[in-house]
Amino acid sequence: MTNTSAALVPRIQLNDGHSIPQLGFGVFRVDPGQTERIVTDALEVGYRHIDTARIYGNEEGVGRAIAESGIPREELFVTTKLWNDDQGTQSVFDALDRSLERLGLDYVDLYLIHWPAPANDRYVETWRAFEKLRESGRTRSIGVSNFLVPHLERLLAETAIVPAVDQIELHPYHQQPATTALAQEHDIAIEAWGPLGQGKYPLFELPEVADAAAAHDVTPAQVVIRWHLQRGHIVFPKSDRRERMAENFDVFGFELSDAEVEAITALEREGRVSAHPEEVH
Ligand code: NAD
Repeated sequence: MTNTSAALVPRIQLNDGHSIPQLGFGVFRVDPGQTERIVTDALEVGYRHIDTARIYGNEEGVGRAIAESGIPREELFVTTKLWNDDQGTQSVFDALDRSLERLGLDYVDLYLIHWPAPANDRYVETWRAFEKLRESGRTRSIGVSNFLVPHLERLLAETAIVPAVDQIELHPYHQQPATTALAQEHDIAIEAWGPLGQGKYPLFELPEVADAAAAHDVTPAQVVIRWHLQRGHIVFPKSDRRERMAENFDVFGFELSDAEVEAITALEREGRVSAHPEEVH
């Protein structure tokens, strides 16, 4: 067990006084039946930040792996997310209670509104319930996911607490410059989901990525993760395979040059892998 490597992961300071490990492990599309084994592997590799969601259906497996690991709770950072059909007020309180029960935890470190679902027009009400959840201590920090400029602007105008993070699709082909600029202005940390483009783009074969990998004697995936870290994003790449978990964690022994970072940043082309947040209800 290589517990000590967890110390290599920098922490990002959030706007509410808490901090978050910049590199974590995501469990989207991790089979619920495999989750306990996969998260156990990730914790053994050294990950201490786990990103799940009610809709992934695997919070129980995450919770079992955490309980079995014996790792002190305060060394872990656990995020889960409110699904769209639980937006509202009382439904939000109930949803977090159920998530905590499945996770076997007294609190999560970060609770996110998974999508704004603007057609339902409930995200402002939902955020006010999130503010109460933070006061209750059942979540340390509160944030949003898939919120674009109009959604963030409404929260900033109509509610009291500025989200600690916005978790958005972000990889070299889709960098969301408008959203990240607004987030930066308000000290909202950016979490990049789909950091490797979910394998849907040939990111790893691009010369900007492949040449940097050859120059530093690392893999293209490590270059892309390193690019995120140097751009200041929080990331939690997903893999079911332990050797890839270890590869994705082993990104603190090299540094991309400014020119290498800029060449990858120049790849932006609005290459979204998911539905547009305006269209998810
Ligand atoms: P990702 O970009 O992390 O891609 C994962 C895929 O990349 C894996 O399935 C694997 O095929 C491949 N891969 C991983 N490591 C590799 C390596 N070293 N070499 C080659 N290929 C490798 O995509 P993701 O899982 O969608 O995103 C990461 C996390 O973000 C998720 O697990 C989840 O926690 C979160 N997420 C959030 C939302 C949201 O709406 N908030 C949506 C999607 C994902």
